[in-house]
Amino acid sequence: MRPEILFPLYAPVTTLKGVGARVAPLLEKLAGPIVRDVLFLAPHSLVRRRPATVNTAIEGEVQTFTVEIDEHQKPRSPQQPWKIRTFDGSGFLTLVYFGSFGHAVAEKNPVGAKRIVSGKVERFGSEWQISHPDYLVAPDKADEIPEVETVYPATAGLPARTVRKLALQALTQAADLPEWQDPAWLAKGGFPTWKEALERLHAPVNEADLLPIAPHIRRLAYDELLAHQLAMAQRKADRRAEPADKIAPGPKAAAIVADLPFKLTGAQDRALADVRHDFAQGERMSRLLQGDVGSGKTVVAMLAIADVAAAGAQSALMAPTEILARQHYETLAAPLAAHGITTVLLTGRDKGAARAEKLRALASGAAQVAIGTHALFQNEVHFQSLQLAVVDEQHRFGVAQRQLLQAKGRSVHLLAMSATPIPRTLELTVYGDLDVSRIDEKPPGRTPVATRAAPMTRVDEVEARLREAVAGGAQAFWICPLVSESELVDLKAAEQRAIELRATIGDGVGLVHGKMTGPEKDAVMADFADNRIKVLVATTVVEVGVNVPNATIMVIEQAERFGLAQLHQLRGRVGRGRRESSCVLLYDPPLSETAQKRLDILRRTDDGFQIAETDLELRGGGDALGLRQSGFPDYVFADPFAHRDLIAAAGDDARLIIGRDPELTSERGKALRVLQELFDWRASSPLKDAG
Ligand code: ADP
Ligand code: MG
Repeated sequence: MRPEILFPLYAPVTTLKGVGARVAPLLEKLAGPIVRDVLFLAPHSLVRRRPATVNTAIEGEVQTFTVEIDEHQKPRSPQQPWKIRTFDGSGFLTLVYFGSFGHAVAEKNPVGAKRIVSGKVERFGSEWQISHPDYLVAPDKADEIPEVETVYPATAGLPARTVRKLALQALTQAADLPEWQDPAWLAKGGFPTWKEALERLHAPVNEADLLPIAPHIRRLAYDELLAHQLAMAQRKADRRAEPADKIAPGPKAAAIVADLPFKLTGAQDRALADVRHDFAQGERMSRLLQGDVGSGKTVVAMLAIADVAAAGAQSALMAPTEILARQHYETLAAPLAAHGITTVLLTGRDKGAARAEKLRALASGAAQVAIGTHALFQNEVHFQSLQLAVVDEQHRFGVAQRQLLQAKGRSVHLLAMSATPIPRTLELTVYGDLDVSRIDEKPPGRTPVATRAAPMTRVDEVEARLREAVAGGAQAFWICPLVSESELVDLKAAEQRAIELRATIGDGVGLVHGKMTGPEKDAVMADFADNRIKVLVATTVVEVGVNVPNATIMVIEQAERFGLAQLHQLRGRVGRGRRESSCVLLYDPPLSETAQKRLDILRRTDDGFQIAETDLELRGGGDALGLRQSGFPDYVFADPFAHRDLIAAAGDDARLIIGRDPELTSERGKALRVLQELFDWRASSPLKDAG
């Protein structure tokens, strides 16, 4: 139940004065559908209107002049603007109005009238002018012109000044809410109350008030982070409360380990121990294996599957694409079969009798493991006793899809896997409701991928070398980014590149892009994996985890446009075999200093976690793109970099609160419910209700 005190904030934006059928959709696009969203819209800058005279006017500044209307200059054609020439004793200032309403302005401002005008000063030839002044008022209305003005985000048809008025109106709807933060914590940080913080947000005194480090913004950011962390802590606690069968480490897993041609790394051992710890609790597991591409997550999953099979239950491993599912099947089926564990592969391609046979095996328990794609959670699939769901590249699946799979058993353990490295400081915001095992150590004996950056001007050279390498039996990826507003234009660029490469290299150049259907993509990828395609041109990251050991060259065009984590993952697709691999980062010169540093870090290290950390520092959290892709939430106030200290604090705080008052019934607990409602985190967490 939503607390009554929040009703005004949850009213639709149309309850604000001035928001009708025209403005409502614009405001919704800019802020959101309810008054709260407008309240949370922060100004991004300040304008100071300094009084000036024409002879001291400064081009580009916003200034205020006291003038007399001198002359109306009617347009001679509809394309021309209305001009109103004014004079302030020191010089002439022309006010320029495009469009139809210049006439009305002229009527209200007759020649000889005294006026105060304010706006951005421009120079047009030898003349000073202001086009579409912000203010043009009679001297007795001078106080309508504020000296310092906040500038809000705007959109076509909804100017910043209108947005400001609406935001201030929304502020009047905000009640004083009961304090949900710890008073000692507030005092220590010098934080204002929630209401005071919002008031300051909309009436910043100086530029420092706009920065993320301003106390009122930190307060709001902390509120937001705490609301989110609470939601995740609650989900985690709820899941734990669900009893699940205990699973003991079995002899089969030990036998499989003994068969492996390698020794488990320390990180793999630790991750397996984490999983077994969860299995022993009698509670539902929700664990994420986070490890770079090639860090060996699959083996850990296989051993967990073996434990489940030894306990007489079934597991399902779900991968986002058919080719990945097939690769997992090829890796796991034989080692498992050697110890009496039967695996079936289930994808969209299975039809008729073969499919029916697989479904029977799962329903009867004759098969203990199902590996597959989305086909796994379809209605017709039944398990005899599913107890473990392994989800590879978990961010590629929707919450509902994971739930459908888990619903095929009772209290099914979740083991998610992700190869997107996330800086440690941000882990809580993305995976706060999961237990995380980091695989931060790679199997020994990998040769790092030789990485270099080169300007686009040397693309011919790169193509020539690629031809030699392909002649010598190598395979290569060539990645073209999605950069323009239009996917069609990007696709053209990739097609063009494929044509060009065909001209240099000959046949054996394939193209895969986001507009293709799943089976089309799979077919091209399979041709590449089977070496029928030598050079694969791709527009997007099509197959993050795909394993093509013979591919040793990765060329990435416009590398400066990619997030570092993305570049790192792309590079991780080569260097999987014995042969030396290389990666060429092509960029459009000139590179900014930051871009230079970003590409440099890739040359220096192949540790995904370190790369993610550096990326966050270099971009200061500003670029949301890379982060969002990895599931970073769309916060209103919290900044992943500037507020990283608050993330950890909010996580600790949330755990304490839920530990002491799981149902939020204490005085503070009740206030915290208001906070949660205010930020409404249930609506948008990457793993909401998962598992
Ligand atoms: P990812 O974490 O990207 O899923 P995989 O599980 O596919 O990585 O492992 C990548 C490769 O490393 C596989 O060929 C696997 O057999 C191999 N591998 C895994 N663990 C080890 C190890 N401890 N020592 C040597 N090779 C290993
Ligand atoms: Mg993998």
